[in-house]
Amino acid sequence: MADSAAAVVLHAPPAQHAGLSGLDAGLLGAVVAGQARLTPEQAVEIFHKMPLPELGRWADARCRALHGDTFRTFIIDRNINYTNVCNAKCTFCAFRRDGDEHDAYTLTYDQIHAKIRELVAIGGTQILMQGGMNPELPLQWYLDLLSGIKREFPKLHVHAFSPPEFIEFVHFFNPPGETLREKIRWVMVRLREAGLDSLPGGGGEIFADPVRRKIGLGKCDAESWLTCMNVAHELGMFTSATMMFGHIEGYADRVHHMWLVREWQDRALGAQAGTRSGHYKAFISWPFQRENTPLGRVPDWGADPAELGMEFSGDAVARAWDFGRGVAKQPAGQRAADVFDFGAMDKREYPSAHLYGKRVRMSMASDYLRTQALSRLFLDNVYSIGSSWVTMGPHIGQLGLMYGANDMGSVMMEENVVSSAGTTYCLDEAVLCRLIRDSGFVPAQRDNTYDILRVHAGADAPDMRVKDWSEHRARKTHQQAPREPKLAKVTVGAT
Ligand code: SF4
Repeated sequence: MADSAAAVVLHAPPAQHAGLSGLDAGLLGAVVAGQARLTPEQAVEIFHKMPLPELGRWADARCRALHGDTFRTFIIDRNINYTNVCNAKCTFCAFRRDGDEHDAYTLTYDQIHAKIRELVAIGGTQILMQGGMNPELPLQWYLDLLSGIKREFPKLHVHAFSPPEFIEFVHFFNPPGETLREKIRWVMVRLREAGLDSLPGGGGEIFADPVRRKIGLGKCDAESWLTCMNVAHELGMFTSATMMFGHIEGYADRVHHMWLVREWQDRALGAQAGTRSGHYKAFISWPFQRENTPLGRVPDWGADPAELGMEFSGDAVARAWDFGRGVAKQPAGQRAADVFDFGAMDKREYPSAHLYGKRVRMSMASDYLRTQALSRLFLDNVYSIGSSWVTMGPHIGQLGLMYGANDMGSVMMEENVVSSAGTTYCLDEAVLCRLIRDSGFVPAQRDNTYDILRVHAGADAPDMRVKDWSEHRARKTHQQAPREPKLAKVTVGAT
């Protein structure tokens, strides 16, 4: 049908039923059918009270309603971390370096092209390119980088530069514009013209300001992150959203994070009235990896027996924060983050608050699956939920397909960020296909828009051709990504 007023489908979010319990089977059945939406309070209740297998069953039902029973997907792309020099100091990061450290690096264009050539040789269709936030790189370096990639690899999809990088681009390049939104747009339009196709959702972490101020030192706040993605959506680009949990945050902070994604997604979809323009295409969450990070040295919650009967300090602060509504005396025109003082919380009502940020509650497999399953139920307006085998390992990642995920992400040729924090899983296409097939689905390679490129149903599928699995697995998993060499000072325009 040609475009016409009759063809336009207005985005209408499903109704919420605040009076019902989050455990109400009728409500959850309606959520599965896309006819109801969970409130944040219901989601927190599910987090705390629903048995994991039951939550998994609801999430799986919702996933099957959206994606069917046959295919589960993956993409062949390559992570390219173009620089590890970063002017932020996130406490959960083992990857960043100062520019003068001996193992600081910025890749040359030649090195990046060589990596892409290797990717294309194995059927790859996309690069995921993110860096530290390197103040030495001017705008022209990025423009030449993108145009050079598109010249050499015109069919390659460039999924690059997360919102924190964009916010720093604004600081580094000082573009024209009255507002942050205008400045972001100025930079993004130019990068897009040079070859940028879509934005990854890196740097989301946890949006709640009390958490973000503690762990994301020097990184943009939630409002800036979400505004950046909204600009990308206005320009017609797809993006993803991410969440890194299992550190100092409370469960309600995770729900608050998803709630903001859902709200801004409504805004993006509503603005476009049902067209296929920009919005969040996927949500991927993963637990904090502690090795080699400052935050990883913080003691575990409950290691001291005196803490065992107490509310986790992150839950206490999240309760006081109350989805950002907890700041009763917020002066007009000031952000809640600027006035919320968790140090001054009532000690009788919040006896563990003084431990906030001084304890971590690490997330293991069951908490990961619980969080992912809830994201499938809560994010009714986000198409794809990705399973994070990169952090959880291949078999928990596989289990994720039964807990609401429809996508296994990418084969991993190389990874430098979580591997710096001690996680070193690498999988090839055959193993990824095998993991999906063993879960009862047909593996299918997708592109960035989640359209299926190749269905692996026959005897020539990558996993069906493997004769000796024990040998294949031993060779391809647990492969440490090589560290990048330190390079001489970057020359703008060099290849
Ligand atoms: S997480 Fe990213 S922004 Fe934060 S310090 Fe590491 S490289 Fe920099």
